[in-house]
Amino acid sequence: MDEQFKIDPGHGGPRAFFRVAGPILVGLGVLLFALGIIGFFAAFGSMSRPHFMGAPFVGIPLLAVGGWMCQFGYAGRVARYMAEEMAPVGKDTFNYMAEGTQGAVHTVARAAAQGLAEGGVSLGGSQPETKVRCHKCNALVDVDARFCDQCGTALAKTKPCPRCDEQNDPDARFCDNCGYAYP
Ligand SMILES: [Zn+2]
Ligand SMILES: [Zn+2]
Repeated sequence: MDEQFKIDPGHGGPRAFFRVAGPILVGLGVLLFALGIIGFFAAFGSMSRPHFMGAPFVGIPLLAVGGWMCQFGYAGRVARYMAEEMAPVGKDTFNYMAEGTQGAVHTVARAAAQGLAEGGVSLGGSQPETKVRCHKCNALVDVDARFCDQCGTALAKTKPCPRCDEQNDPDARFCDNCGYAYP
């Protein structure tokens, strides 16, 4: 009894009483019913007045009441047990689905970004021009580099045009602006 109250503190009183009394009444009812049957057959065999004739008439109601008490006393526990069994499963299912969806979305997004990146498409929009091609060897070099990384050619336009003062490539043969031909 004490242990039951500890386990189930919120369900003392009648329910706890029914949980104990129900099985006792059922047991008592079964016992009385059995006694009545045994007594009946014993009396039938001996042709004497049967013993315990009233026992089944007491035992059957006891069975009914005891069964009802058991139902009442344990119904809550059964329902709660079912709820506890079902609830975590539902929660896990929900979490699993949510995680699965999240993962799928991330995977698709990552794959799409990777595919675009591999395809040469930048997600960050047009990138600023930071590289230029060396006019001699065609290597990609920084726009502000003074010499080519590959061939060492001077990249800065250091050859002024004597006609228009345009700065041309050091090895330019013609002025980019006016077409002046260097000698
Ligand atoms: Zn070069
Ligand atoms: Zn010029």
